[in-house]
Amino acid sequence: MAAAPEALLRACDGYLTEASDDDAVLGMAPRWVASPGTTAQVSAVMAAATADGLAVVPRGTGSKLGWGNPPRRLDVVLDTTRLDTLVEHAAGDLILVTGAGRRLTALQDDVAGSGQRLGIDPTRSGTIGGTVATGTSGPMRLRHGAVRDLVIGMTLVRADGVVAKSGGKVVKNVAGYDLAKLLTGSFGTLGVITEVAFRLHPVPPARRWVTLAVDGPEQAQAAVQELAHSQQAPVAVEVDWAEGRGEVSALLEGHADATEDCAETVARGLGDGARVDDHAPDWWGTDLGAADLHADGAGRTLVRTTHEIAGTGPLLGSITSLSEAPGVSAAYRGSPAVGVGCALLVGEVDAVVAATEGLRAAAAAVGGAAVVLEAPDDVRARVDVWGPATALDLMRSVKARFDPEGTLAPGRFVGGI
Ligand SMILES: Cc1cc2nc3c(=O)[nH]c(=O)nc-3n(C[C@H](O)[C@H](O)[C@H](O)COP(=O)(O)OP(=O)(O)OC[C@H]3O[C@@H](n4cnc5c(N)ncnc54)[C@H](O)[C@@H]3O)c2cc1C
Repeated sequence: MAAAPEALLRACDGYLTEASDDDAVLGMAPRWVASPGTTAQVSAVMAAATADGLAVVPRGTGSKLGWGNPPRRLDVVLDTTRLDTLVEHAAGDLILVTGAGRRLTALQDDVAGSGQRLGIDPTRSGTIGGTVATGTSGPMRLRHGAVRDLVIGMTLVRADGVVAKSGGKVVKNVAGYDLAKLLTGSFGTLGVITEVAFRLHPVPPARRWVTLAVDGPEQAQAAVQELAHSQQAPVAVEVDWAEGRGEVSALLEGHADATEDCAETVARGLGDGARVDDHAPDWWGTDLGAADLHADGAGRTLVRTTHEIAGTGPLLGSITSLSEAPGVSAAYRGSPAVGVGCALLVGEVDAVVAATEGLRAAAAAVGGAAVVLEAPDDVRARVDVWGPATALDLMRSVKARFDPEGTLAPGRFVGGI
């Protein structure tokens, strides 16, 4: 192994390996992979890294490491997967405390036996730390809120190794500066999350999906408006869209009879052609996916878009227009009732770059934004993945306060933070 600093080796009790090509973050190769097993070891790793001027990128399963910018420099990947202990499940209080390296799927299994769940269902499963650090959530965000609304406490390690705790295990907690919310969505640039406390929800006895095929953006908009304002209060409203048409689907949950009645009422509200199923459409909650970025020699680019609810139709209309241009196809899947979704652009690089800019303008026109999550290098080189940011000065000052040396994931976040 390239001579690792003694303090770094000691810090993670020998769990330090030489990095391989697989450990690169967007083409930036680290020298070592450190796998601390406790918050104290994470603290020691960060203190040693800061003392030696080493740059660190935290990693869970690595499923979203391709999101954001490449780090400006990288010496150590801090692998969190040994922080996978379920610390506490207080079923009576609907509270769970877990190590950040535990997988979301394992955590859902942990609590399922008590008839409970964590109201996050991201389209790809990673660790809890990665889910929180990227702020990703799936269809249930409509009912349960975004990830930051489910996090009630957090233990984190600052770049200099100082351990900080925020919030706690009680749902109501007035702790002043809300570190847990700040770290949610920070892409590993502000601290290493080591433990998270979540509020849980009971699993309802019955689920029904009401689905309508829609032919054009106006019909999609009307269906989404109907569902978003429905007195039956769907748990989730999702849309799947390609080539100018798609499906809008809503999830109803509750006691069996009531859920059946609610679903029938929702179906009547949506009009002819709406169907009630006891299973989700096959596309529900799954990722459009851009893993194979160069499939067929084409540029595949995954863009996360936000929009006002009333902007659903116009955004879908714009996506349809984009895919009518030569050399590119565009599909969309997301949660229009909370204004968050993903578009997948596939085609020649020039056409994909133009479509990405077009999508960004279309999202801005409906009160939202577009962030490129995954793209091949030749697309990435020609677009600003984050796009224009508001409050950049504030973000820079937060970063400067948390990590003045730029040790943690330098350059990964918006504005090169
Ligand atoms: C350096 C730094 C400073 C921060 N300062 C603050 C602060 O002062 N106040 C505060 O409340 N939070 C702050 N945060 C936390 C971060 O902004 C939270 O992730 C954000 O508040 C939650 O984003 P969201 O509501 O869009 O959540 P979600 O909708 O869940 O967003 C998920 C992720 O996408 C990112 N994202 C989406 N669109 C854009 C975009 N156009 N530009 C940039 N990022 C985008 C979000 O930051 C987040 O990472 C800071 C984070 C960092 C890294």
